[in-house]
Amino acid sequence: MSDVHICEVGPRDGLQNARHLMATEAKKAWIAALAAAGLEEIEVGSFVPPKLIPAMADTGEIVAFARMIPGLKVVALAPNLKGFQRALGAGAHKVTFPVSASRAHSESNVRMTPEQMVEEVRKCALLPHPGVEIEGAVSTAFGCTMQGQVPEDDVVRIAAALAEFCDAVALADTVGYANPAQVKRLFTKVRAAIGAKLEGAHFHDTRGLGIANALAAYEAGVRHFDSSMGGLGGCPFAPGASGNVITEDLVFMFESMGVATGIDLERLFKARALLSGAIPDEPIYGHTPQAGLPKGFRAAA
Ligand SMILES: [Zn+2]
Repeated sequence: MSDVHICEVGPRDGLQNARHLMATEAKKAWIAALAAAGLEEIEVGSFVPPKLIPAMADTGEIVAFARMIPGLKVVALAPNLKGFQRALGAGAHKVTFPVSASRAHSESNVRMTPEQMVEEVRKCALLPHPGVEIEGAVSTAFGCTMQGQVPEDDVVRIAAALAEFCDAVALADTVGYANPAQVKRLFTKVRAAIGAKLEGAHFHDTRGLGIANALAAYEAGVRHFDSSMGGLGGCPFAPGASGNVITEDLVFMFESMGVATGIDLERLFKARALLSGAIPDEPIYGHTPQAGLPKGFRAAA
């Protein structure tokens, strides 16, 4: 049994922001290797218009493939009703809806206010979706590149609205603004409002605080984390700024603390080799894979 649950979001959050396209067959091999390393949940793509994000054009095929991997929970992102219908049609086990807490970000990204976006998710949740989990992810929950500060009360209000009809709610630091004190405070506040429906934490490592924020969330009681292999998905306009918190380092942190992830690090490094082989010019990060495991390292029991 795992003490924490890690969802690999590299095939979605990583590849969506990567400079290089990964071929469909390479994606499949990488996802299979991630699952073989013990990842039980993988966000494999997003159902956005292919013209907008060509890297996600094969998401339907990828979902259909990933569904055949025994024991794997296949997650897809959907920004609206149309995306949700495509996700259901493809057979995703879980669909994540991003709802921006920043008014400026929401209006520029989905041309909807946060309240309108909550209503869009409600519309989807009211459709029959037998066996499919719905997650509402409050994005830009810790700050926004357009708006700057995002009031914590706005985050609590949106999380509470989503909790009415979503199976789970997550808080996402979409642009890497969070710090550990803020993470503890906001997760504690939102949990006080919605209880156990608050599940996931999604951090970006833009300012090097991804792993510190993940630890702060863990100490605040969070047990579900998103991360991406190699910190894939760095912003091309901010050199050295990596994408999500790095899966390899997150797994190493937990395992060395005695917190079981269910993930085998040596097999994870094999999946990493597939990733760097498939898109060799894409920068990937990770302290643990570069340094190797320490002598005498013992994974959590
Ligand atoms: Zn993200």
